[in-house]
Amino acid sequence: MTRPHELLEANEVKRFVFWILGAALVVGVLLIVANFDVVRHWLAVHTGTVNESGPFYGFWSGFGSDIGEATLIGAVSVGVYTGARKVNCHTKGCWRIGHHPLEGTPYHLCKHHHPDVPVEGASIEHILAQHQKFKDNQAAAKGDQPVA
Ligand SMILES: [Zn+2]
Repeated sequence: MTRPHELLEANEVKRFVFWILGAALVVGVLLIVANFDVVRHWLAVHTGTVNESGPFYGFWSGFGSDIGEATLIGAVSVGVYTGARKVNCHTKGCWRIGHHPLEGTPYHLCKHHHPDVPVEGASIEHILAQHQKFKDNQAAAKGDQPVA
């Protein structure tokens, strides 16, 4: 259990880390500005834009040719992440696919977490009994006689 003074200490630690990282960022930017020629030359050498036949030949033949691959990998990663977040079970921490909507809620659950879906798989008798129950409920809602 977390006590109020522990929360306060955690907040102070977060604030301290934030200021340290901010100071490191400012110092890093100042160092880059102060040594801009050295940084620019290092970047030109490591991206392949120096000592080549054209101004950007080395870049597009070397480092720059990886941009397309990085884009593909990034797009696939974002797609997989988004798909997993969109279609997985809404129970926190469950990565199974949520095929089954829970009536009366906006949630979709996997068969392990949905209360009405059998975990071990359903027999055809169970499925047909559920369907018959649904049809009887629909007929009762309309005021008709149950379907025989
Ligand atoms: Zn689940």
